[in-house]
Amino acid sequence: MSQDVCRPAVPASSGDAFGWESVAQDGAARAGVMRTAHGPVATPVFMPVGTAGTVKAMAADTVRSTGATIVLGNTYHLMLRPGAERVQALGGLHPFMDWPGPILTDSGGFQVMSLGALRTLDADGVTFRSHLDGSRHRLTPERSIRIQHALDATITMAFDECTPYPATPEQVAASMRLSMRWAERSRQAFVARRGYAMFGIVQGGTDAGLRAESVAALREIGFEGYAVGGLAVGEGQAEMLRVLDATVPLLPADRPRYLMGVGTPDDLVAGVARGIDMFDCVMPTRAGRTARAYTARGVLNLRNARHAGDPGPVDAACGCTACRRHSRAYLHHLFRAGEMLGPMLLSEHNIRYYQDLMRGLREAIVRGELAAHSAHVRAVWQEGQGSAPLPEVGDPPGAAPLDRHT
Ligand SMILES: [Zn+2]
Repeated sequence: MSQDVCRPAVPASSGDAFGWESVAQDGAARAGVMRTAHGPVATPVFMPVGTAGTVKAMAADTVRSTGATIVLGNTYHLMLRPGAERVQALGGLHPFMDWPGPILTDSGGFQVMSLGALRTLDADGVTFRSHLDGSRHRLTPERSIRIQHALDATITMAFDECTPYPATPEQVAASMRLSMRWAERSRQAFVARRGYAMFGIVQGGTDAGLRAESVAALREIGFEGYAVGGLAVGEGQAEMLRVLDATVPLLPADRPRYLMGVGTPDDLVAGVARGIDMFDCVMPTRAGRTARAYTARGVLNLRNARHAGDPGPVDAACGCTACRRHSRAYLHHLFRAGEMLGPMLLSEHNIRYYQDLMRGLREAIVRGELAAHSAHVRAVWQEGQGSAPLPEVGDPPGAAPLDRHT
């Protein structure tokens, strides 16, 4: 196939009906194009997280320059500040953050559940205190969907309870069934518009039976896309992949599939192989703010003294501003000096790395060479890290749960 899947041939036009079409299949992996009211998205895709209406430390033009086509916004953060009504009055989140392309908003459920003692859950919704000023707020499925509508989200997520981990089988089952009732209410509250979508979220912890029950409940309701939630919460990659192996084949083949809050580059490679189309994670931007760079040869810490006199680029294979214009030594200096340009350059680099990684996977699917391509990518990571195992670049020690999506 000669079509460049990174730049879909069919032009975006406002008013495109929402849909996902397969371009190529390689094993369980799919390359496709998602059409939306705000333009097309080639999948599989990584979505940078724009928590509070900004991908941290990156201007919208810089985000676009990395190849990103869709970004996330966070309902919880935006409802508290500046407020969904204000964003709506200013024309919605697209003009507000200078992102005319597709935007996916989460439902606020994950952040609210992360508030711990600051929130109380009941069958109807969640009451919580703002982490900013302690003010009292309430989120229900209906309110979450109204807020996402006010923000003008291209893709609205159903409001759900992110099941705590670890939890007893009874807790996981009860939590999943509550989320399915909320999914039904979310769907009823959603105002269908051409080119807009709502995704349901599969829950059920690490129990394959509960995951299957959740998929059946969501398919009965019917959504434009399906997300797998409640993973990457501490269960480990092997367990996460086992859940995906049991869950993804049950999802409708003609709808996009989104693995929420995941993950490391290796998680993305593994998720794509299992038929996941969409990912989001704060790791590349958070790592960029703390001097860690993802590269074709693994992870670098630019604070490390060994970079202090290194005239070479962070990643010779990368076309970002940092790699084209600056040395490792300069990045090292910026972080040591506490200069804000360090986090800006390295956030751009890491998002660019994630976009390049996904483009490579898409092209490999189209060529029918995903397995060989993935094996090569992993081998080069390992080679770059020497004999040491690939470092786990997860949350830094002491990160608050709320930080996971910021
Ligand atoms: Zn770079």
